[in-house]
Amino acid sequence: MCGVIGYIGEKPCVELIFKGLKCLEYRGYDSSGIAVLEEGAISVIKSEGKLDKLAPLLSALPHNATLGMGHTRWATHGAPTKVNAHPHKERGVAVIHNGILENYQELKIELLEKGVRFQTDTDTEVFVHLLNQELDTVPDLRKALLNLIQKL
Ligand code: GLU
Repeated sequence: MCGVIGYIGEKPCVELIFKGLKCLEYRGYDSSGIAVLEEGAISVIKSEGKLDKLAPLLSALPHNATLGMGHTRWATHGAPTKVNAHPHKERGVAVIHNGILENYQELKIELLEKGVRFQTDTDTEVFVHLLNQELDTVPDLRKALLNLIQKL
């Protein structure tokens, strides 16, 4: 279980996302994180523990961002640490996830054999690398996601 919130619109979203996460904190409270997109760059903050520990990091995010997402984690794969907190970002992709990728181990082995290096112990990170690989050949996010879903 976890809490997931996303925003795309015209208002600055950092505070909105944080307030949304506060409402969802009961769904996961071992760690949390927020990613926002501003001027083509993704910025991420993460913290171990409850949302109160994430609050002091909000000022590190670009406050004009109007697109972003947040996560409160209830760990299933990987310890409840800052490094395992969502969002997971690699190249131009940032991912948050609720639930379990049941076949992540097979997929992770395939990725490791291809030389992919993992930063975390989560099942979710498999998704990030697979999406990047898919986008390398299918540079259309919707199509890449639909292709990827078949493998999960
Ligand atoms: N399986 C993912 C993890 O352990 C997501 C857990 C959740 O739903 O919060 O990071």
